[in-house]
Parts: sequence; C-alpha cells; structure tokens
Amino acid sequence: MKIIVISLTIILLVLALSLYIPFSPKLLQPASVVSLRILDRNGYLLREVLSDKEGKSQWVSLKDISPNLILATVAAEDSRFYEHWGIDTRAILRAILQNVRARKVVSGASTLTQQVIKSIHHFPRDWFWKFVEIWHALRLEVSLSKDEIITQYLNRIPYGNQTFGINAASWLYFDKPPAHLSLAEAALLAGLPRGPSIYNPYRYFLRAKKRQQEILARMLSKGVVTREEYRRALEEPLNIIPPQLSFRAPHFSDFVLSRIPLKERQDISSIRTTLDIELQKDVETLVKNCVESLKEWKVTNAAVLIMDNEKREILSLVGSADFFDSDHNGQVSGVTALRQPGSALKPFTYALALEQGMNPATLILDAQIRIRSNGIDYIPRNYDGKFHGLVRLREALASSYNVSAIRVLQRIGVESLLGRLKKLGFDSLSKGADYYGLGLTLGGGEVTLLELVRAYSMFTNSGVFRKEKIFLEINDTQGKAKLLPEYSSLRLFSPQVSYIITDILLDNDARIPAFGAGSVLCLPFPCAVKTGTSGNFRDNWAIGYTPHYTVGVWVGNFDGKPMRNVSGVSGAGPLFRDTMLLLQKRERIANPNFPIPEGLIEAYVCPRSGMLAGSSCPGRIKEIFIKGTEPGEYCNLCSAVASFTL
Ligand SMILES: [Zn+2]
Repeated sequence: MKIIVISLTIILLVLALSLYIPFSPKLLQPASVVSLRILDRNGYLLREVLSDKEGKSQWVSLKDISPNLILATVAAEDSRFYEHWGIDTRAILRAILQNVRARKVVSGASTLTQQVIKSIHHFPRDWFWKFVEIWHALRLEVSLSKDEIITQYLNRIPYGNQTFGINAASWLYFDKPPAHLSLAEAALLAGLPRGPSIYNPYRYFLRAKKRQQEILARMLSKGVVTREEYRRALEEPLNIIPPQLSFRAPHFSDFVLSRIPLKERQDISSIRTTLDIELQKDVETLVKNCVESLKEWKVTNAAVLIMDNEKREILSLVGSADFFDSDHNGQVSGVTALRQPGSALKPFTYALALEQGMNPATLILDAQIRIRSNGIDYIPRNYDGKFHGLVRLREALASSYNVSAIRVLQRIGVESLLGRLKKLGFDSLSKGADYYGLGLTLGGGEVTLLELVRAYSMFTNSGVFRKEKIFLEINDTQGKAKLLPEYSSLRLFSPQVSYIITDILLDNDARIPAFGAGSVLCLPFPCAVKTGTSGNFRDNWAIGYTPHYTVGVWVGNFDGKPMRNVSGVSGAGPLFRDTMLLLQKRERIANPNFPIPEGLIEAYVCPRSGMLAGSSCPGRIKEIFIKGTEPGEYCNLCSAVASFTL
C-alpha cells in the first residue's frame, strides 16, 4: 500500500514538474505563409492563393482584434476559459460520461488551449493521445498568459473556405480588418471554427446565422453584453461579401495555377497575367445572359475564350455560366473540357486540300457515302438533311457540307490531317488515325475549346502557330522577376492557304445555302467564323476571328445531356456575335480588313464547273487562287449544254 502511494506521488510529481518543460518557441511562431497573388494585366487582384498547407493566414496581435470577437469566441467555445488551467474538468467529466455511453471518443470538450495544441500537433483521436493533448495544454498554460493563448487560437484556427486565422476570415467574409468587427459580425465568425463547412456562410447562411444567434444569447446570459447590445446585434443585417468578389475570373485563375507545378508555387509571390478583368466581367455577363436565354433549349452552360492574335495573349476566359453553381457542375471549365468539335475541325481539312493543289473552285461531290469511324459504319448526313451534288470547295466549307468534307479527307488521308492537327497543338487527339477514321473531319475525336482557339488564331498569323500566352510577369518571394516560358513559333500553313481559308470563312454569301441570309454570323465588320455541332446536339461551337482577336464559344451541358435542337447559328452563334461586337466597341479598329498576302491571283470562274467562266456560263464568280492552282481552261460544261439545247 505504502509503495503504491509513494510511486503514485512520484509519478504525479514528475508529471507536475514536466509541465514546466518550456514550450518550444518555434512551435508558437506565426506560421510562415506563402501567398501567391494572381493579377490581371493591369495589376488588379484576381485571387490570392495560399500554400495548400497553411491556407490564408496573416498573424495579428490581440490589440488589432475587436474585443467583440474575443468575448464571442470565449462564449462560443470555452466559457470558463479565464478560470481553468488549460482543461475544463466539468466539461471533461461530462464528455467522459458521453463517451462511455457511446463507447468511443465522440465529444472532445476541448478548451481553447487544447484547440491550440490540436492545431499545432494534429494528434490521432484516441484516449492515449487525448491525455498527451491534455498534458500539452497544461504545459501551454504554464508557459503563456491567457491573452497569449487566445492570440494563438485566433490566429491558427480555420474559419472555412481556406482561411486560417481571424485576419483572413475577417477580410474574406466582411472585407474589413478584425479590429472593426461589429458584435453581430464577431458572433457569426466566432461560430465558424466549430464546423467550418457545416456553418459555411456561403452555402448554409441560415445555419451560420442560427449559430450566431445562439452565441449572442449565451453572451447575454453570461452578462458580457447588455440587452440593448444583444437586441441591436440580432437586428443588424450581415453583409457577407459574395465569394464571386474575392474569387474573380475563377476558371482563369485555376488555369493559371494548373500551369505552375506545386513545388514552384512556394517561391512565387505574384503573377501578372494577360487577362483583362474589365473585358472578363463583360464577357461573364454575356455568358450568363446566353445560358438564361437558352434555358428552354435545355442548355445549362457555355464558355468563351478570347485571344489576342498578335501576341496570342488570353484576354478573357469564362469556363461556365456560374462557377458557384454546383447543380450544373459550374466548376468544370468549358475551355479545357474535352468535347466533340463537330464541324469545327473542317477548316484544317480544307487547308490541307488547298496545300495539296485543290483550289476554292474545285468541285467536290456531295452525295451519299458510307464510312467507318471509331469502329462503326455509318452514312454521314448534312445538317439540312439533303445532298447537294457537285459543289465548289468554297461552298462546301462555308456551308459545312459533311460528305464533301469526307471526300476531301479521303483524298488527303486521315494520317496527314491527324499529323497536322497534332502539330497544331491538338494534344487531346491522342489516338491513332485508324481509330478516328474519316469521321475525324466531322469531329469524331475530342478536343478542347482552348485547342480550337489557338489553332484558329494560326490562320490570322499567316499560318504560323504558337501556343497561348497567359503570363506577363512572375515575381518570386524576393521580388525578383522570373524567366517566363517562351513558346516557339511554327509555320504550319502558307500565308496564301491561310488567307484563302479566312476568305471562305468570311464569306457571308457562301454560307447562305446552309444558314440562310442575314444570320447572326453576319457581322458589320470582316469576321471569319465556323460553327460546329456534335452528334446528338451535345456540343455547339462558334469559333472565329478578326485580324486582331480570335474568339471561341462553346454551348452545351457538362453532364452530357443533349440540348434541344440547338444549332451553331441559334446556340453558340449569338454569343459569338455579342462577344465580337463587344470587342469591336472596345477597340474601334481603324482598318478591320485582313491583309492579303502576295502570291494570290483573282479569276472569274463558272459556278457550275469551277473552270474559267466562258460566254455561255450562267453568271461569273470572282475567286481567288494561289498562283499556279487556278483553272487553266475555259468552261466546257456550259458550252456543251448550250449546244445540246440548240
Ligand atoms: Zn460554265
């Protein structure tokens, strides 16, 4: 018996003495937080990213924190904080009882001191570690004053939405320093650490508000606020800053971050990007309005990408109608998502055809044909359901006839098209030519809006391809500028071929047979454009360019549900048009024409034969040719027909 008493006394003595082992100051130092600021091209803040481990946290001293918050936090988390020595024996006894009943550790009954320990050590949840935590908490109380402990707590604890510490939370939710928090605001924030996602005010405002009211009531019952203060706090409207305002151009910021490996992020303090936030805001509105207007057609999302042609800078990137709309997968970006491009790849097929000696007047047969694509036999149809017989290459591309595109691809070969597309940055087309088959030109493979836009911008740069630019300046944590990634330029088509494709995509008359006159694609300035619709109306595209900008628009549903009968002209078309008009209004470009390269000649051809127009031909069409590919002979079809009827 004596031995037991003695050994117990010794153990207790050792434990008591061990509490005086000083706390390592290193553990209590403010967390070194690396913050990375993503800016638009004019230095406007788009997003502040904190290293994933730390979250948003900027250390503040107690005098810079509103007393309201300190009182509310104590009331919410640990009402006997100023009385206990690190553990709350009453709360622990209650918790033990609950735990024994539930036969596991369910209730923590943690004091603010214990929570500080938890935020430093992250112990596992079991009985043994609970005792270790308590031992540390008692030690902390020996080393630090109550004010120092609550300062540690308020600076370390998570408040949800990647914020750690009251400073970051105060700025995020109320856009003000923590010294200026009102009683109502303080009570709301004090309630968050208990369950940062359960009480997330962005998602569950009413829940967070209810907890705020409970905390205010507890403060009243403890006598730390007067009845009058309590009443006013209850009535005070809570102006929570919507996440949109602290999360600008969200898909673009995500895109920027995806280009920087996690390891490198630690060394970067700011990135000035190519985005133009003013333009971005306008485009975001256009996208929202577009999706709203297409609701009846079962459209839930749209995306827009704008690139400056000369520098290939991304000026605006809108990935979905609403980043925060989780019902429609708003966080998915329509700019980088893999989708079927429909007819949007056809211009590259025809560009290859021109390169291989065909010309815009070459006749191509548009008649029923059976092909094999992705392992399936099928008969491609035209959008209007008809076949058009012999059509000129210009009409075939402008009116987007499917069978003509297949016939052209048969001539140039799938292998050759696929090889060129890969050089054009279509990394998503990762399978072999056999897999895609002739359906490649009808959009059988999957690509991204980004790939389409940068490939189209090649046409406006005389056939020279270069990858997009998103960084203007990257500064490291010492404020030194880092070397920016440079992409090399690659000539993929001649200036003449590029110009002819542009001239065809500009041609409002040539697309009349398929799209009608005066469609939304006719803009009051020269603008080349191509639409596309994937099988089953899942994706709808309009990609086009002026000499200065390339714009890509995708309209569809992320869940793969088909839209109701939406074509490029009624779906993506109007949004493309609005975006182009917006750009035109901003720039007021003096000379909106595409420059014509050397080496092209004009000739009049017969619309029926594509040969040089003769006297018997019904009308003459002015066409452009790469020197040497123009037809050499006069039309013999019309003169033969004429002599036959005589
Ligand atoms: Zn003729």
